[in-house]
Amino acid sequence: MIGCAHAERCSALPALVILTAYALLIVLPVALGWWLIGPARPWLDEASSAIALMATAALLLEFLLSGRFRVISGGIGMDRSLRWHQMFAQILTLAALLHPLFYLTPSGAAFQRPDDPGAVLGLDAASLITGTLAWLLLGLLTLTAIRRDDLPFKYEVWRISHGLGAALLAGLVLHHAIAAGRYSGMPALMAYWAFLLAIALGSLFAIYLIRPWRLACRPWRIAALERVGDRLWSLTLEPDGHAGLSYRAGQFAWLRLNCSAFSPREHPFSIAAAPSDGAALRFLIKEAGDFTRQIGGLPIGARAFVDGPHGALYLEGRREPGIFMIAGGAGLAPMLSMLREAAARGETRPIKLLYGNRHEGQIMAAAELAALAERLRLDLHHVLQEPPPGWAGLAGMMTPELIQAEATRAAAEGWIFLLCGPGPMIRAAHQGLRALGVPRRRILEERFSVF
Ligand SMILES: Cc1cc2nc3c(=O)[nH]c(=O)nc-3n(C[C@H](O)[C@H](O)[C@H](O)COP(=O)(O)OP(=O)(O)OC[C@H]3O[C@@H](n4cnc5c(N)ncnc54)[C@H](O)[C@@H]3O)c2cc1C
Repeated sequence: MIGCAHAERCSALPALVILTAYALLIVLPVALGWWLIGPARPWLDEASSAIALMATAALLLEFLLSGRFRVISGGIGMDRSLRWHQMFAQILTLAALLHPLFYLTPSGAAFQRPDDPGAVLGLDAASLITGTLAWLLLGLLTLTAIRRDDLPFKYEVWRISHGLGAALLAGLVLHHAIAAGRYSGMPALMAYWAFLLAIALGSLFAIYLIRPWRLACRPWRIAALERVGDRLWSLTLEPDGHAGLSYRAGQFAWLRLNCSAFSPREHPFSIAAAPSDGAALRFLIKEAGDFTRQIGGLPIGARAFVDGPHGALYLEGRREPGIFMIAGGAGLAPMLSMLREAAARGETRPIKLLYGNRHEGQIMAAAELAALAERLRLDLHHVLQEPPPGWAGLAGMMTPELIQAEATRAAAEGWIFLLCGPGPMIRAAHQGLRALGVPRRRILEERFSVF
């Protein structure tokens, strides 16, 4: 089990390598164009071409970045790779919006065509249509991604339409670039676009065909399903005819439950079991929407598929003198996994856990946590927003102030900080820890929501 986990860490690229490669791949078409033809037009026109070339490269690379490939997400974390995907998409949208506007400046005279004085920006009808459609589609894809939770349809519908829309966008952009661009029609750049297109298509092929096919070869079964609190479920999966998953305590997996391995209905959940527990995987699931609300009705013995492990929230290789965990709601799951593994390995470092919930009925695995507190040097603090009368624990939201008050000593002593839960809680924790001077390298996190 451990051997494979190490192989996975070796296959993940460090964040700096990923960022550098990304920057080089984006700048390369501009460098190629200027080197082979040279910038000969007014600077605004050249700037417009440059941002269009970089935006086209960024668009084609987005397929790779959003594809949940471990070589990328293993090094920077799944949530960060998806946030980078969103951030780069927003930057490229802005760049693409500016691209035609630059040509509307007085220097746009370079685009007047004596043969067709009515041509808009010097474009023929086909490239004007593909450029305009691409411009509108990019805006639509970005807007619907930002406002995803406000859309009146399911996440799966959004995800499929987002993928198909992105593929259509890539086709429109490439047609426009090659037909209308000053540089993109050059053989060297055509070859470069073919290379990036192959990466994009290869990513889609891997995501929608190869990965599900591999999952189908390693099925799982629902072995147990138990209600463990107010709208909280414990789900246990057992491998069906194979040895199970090699993972590190704290990682997560995408689950398909009671459906085909090729179904788009997959959701991420942190593994609450520990590698030392054996092959069965346990998940703690909180009802949030249409998929999680149906968990309780799943038949025991039903088929499941586990895509994982993913994520970089784990303690392996960390030598800090203490471990500070901050969890919100179902964000306890990876902490429980790490605590169980720590107990099994005889961890002797001090551990502090701040575990936040709205009310007492939402506390998960209370007895298990109490038992772990006996076996480890675990200082456990429940934080309730709506505490019952006579509550002796911490009360209120997980604010930066509360985190600061609880983490002052650990921050000064150089502990590692592990955060998991909804986006707003993670942001508050970050704010509190940064105010205490905790460096980023000592904060590991997994967000359950990207925003
Ligand atoms: C890395 C990670 C680990 C997680 N671990 C746990 C866990 O251990 N226990 C737990 O209870 N919850 C966990 N979650 C949250 C869980 O994935 C969502 O609550 C669940 O997918 C919601 O699906 P739904 O259809 O029931 O709700 P919806 O109402 O459809 O969605 C609720 C929220 O979840 C997001 N979401 C929905 N479907 C997906 C999807 N397929 N992929 C990503 N986000 C989605 C939506 O954008 C929305 O913000 C985790 C999330 C992430 C990103």
